[in-house]
Amino acid sequence: MAGLIASIRLVRAGVSCTLIEKKKYPFHRVCGEYISNETLPFLKRESLFPDQFQPPAINRLQLSSVSGKSTELLLDLGGFGISRYAFDNFLYQLAMRDGAQVLLEEEVKEVMYAKSEDIFSVKTNRNLFTSSLVIGAHGKRSRIDSSLKRKFMQKHSPYVGIKYHIRTNHPDDLIALHNFNGGYCGISNVEDGKTTLCYLVHRDQVKRFKGIHEVEETVLFQNPLLKSIFHSSDFLFDKPETINEISFEEKELVLNHILMAGDAAGMIAPLCGNGMAMAIQSGKLVSDLIIQARNENRTRVWLESSYAKQWNSIFSNRLRTGRLIQHYLSGSEWSSRLSIGLAVNLPWVARQIIKRTHGPEF
Ligand SMILES: Cc1cc2nc3c(=O)[nH]c(=O)nc-3n(C[C@H](O)[C@H](O)[C@H](O)COP(=O)(O)OP(=O)(O)OC[C@H]3O[C@@H](n4cnc5c(N)ncnc54)[C@H](O)[C@@H]3O)c2cc1C
Repeated sequence: MAGLIASIRLVRAGVSCTLIEKKKYPFHRVCGEYISNETLPFLKRESLFPDQFQPPAINRLQLSSVSGKSTELLLDLGGFGISRYAFDNFLYQLAMRDGAQVLLEEEVKEVMYAKSEDIFSVKTNRNLFTSSLVIGAHGKRSRIDSSLKRKFMQKHSPYVGIKYHIRTNHPDDLIALHNFNGGYCGISNVEDGKTTLCYLVHRDQVKRFKGIHEVEETVLFQNPLLKSIFHSSDFLFDKPETINEISFEEKELVLNHILMAGDAAGMIAPLCGNGMAMAIQSGKLVSDLIIQARNENRTRVWLESSYAKQWNSIFSNRLRTGRLIQHYLSGSEWSSRLSIGLAVNLPWVARQIIKRTHGPEF
């Protein structure tokens, strides 16, 4: 998402841009598919809001504890729901229409910067490109990170993400966040009357059982609200989308002169429902600065330091808070029960968390 946004804005400003994507649009991916309304003014201003899908507007949050005790609060800013299958493809079509060169089913293997010539070479499974700038918008974990020997890759991350599309009776304006031992599950509606059910679970819970379905029946179903949703819904995928090794560690913002954007720069805990908004805003930020650097004839040093400075001032506090909440919610059983119990019984705690993990509209 960060890469699509950056490339659309760059080509619209007359900067030639190639986007390299290893998959082929449209495709499903693990994501709760709730987009914070922080993004609305920007998406509407730039004609990037996917009106044609009539995404449901979401402004209520339901929180439930493992025992099924729940509370509800109104979201000040709220958000909207759209599947990544639809939204990413919509942005891809716009990128193509506006003149970006998009290479699909092509995987970047290595990115090298030659100081003597002040130029990058980008090696894929098919081609070798040169470029004066590279944005790393490769998501939470990629072979590019291994080839760059990024520090966060040296640690194993214990989180696994699972996603389904279902048909169920879920109100359009509600996002639900249900806690279970070792994780949490988000449920909200997207286009065409479909609902996304997406959860994050600690690897230890998965290892204890034979497969995903056993985890669901034994761990998730302890929360009676989740049990009831699983039993009363039609599941639309043959098998769920899954990802593992989801890392919330700090990451370098600029490495080997590559400007990192979206999850490649830092991933916020999914329960904040804010990762896509950050990807969109960092795609905007990096493209704004590249355009400014070109217009004002600025140096690479200026570009890199301005990007890191502005990125930190917008995102670093909310990432820190997100990391802390993730730690308590997916940690031991008592810490998870205590933290969700606090939020369920004292809605102002939940409100503070939302405030500290979100930014203003941009
Ligand atoms: C369980 C879970 C639930 C979530 N729920 C939400 C939510 O409800 N709301 C929200 O806002 N955020 C949510 N997020 C976070 C959100 O999904 C991410 O923050 C967002 O997708 C980041 O966008 P991005 O552009 O950085 O990366 P991505 O969207 O992951 O895009 C990266 C792209 O790079 C491609 N790529 C990777 N490596 C290479 C390579 N070597 N060569 C070529 N292409 C490559 C990938 O195929 C991918 O298409 C959730 C995350 C998880 C794990």
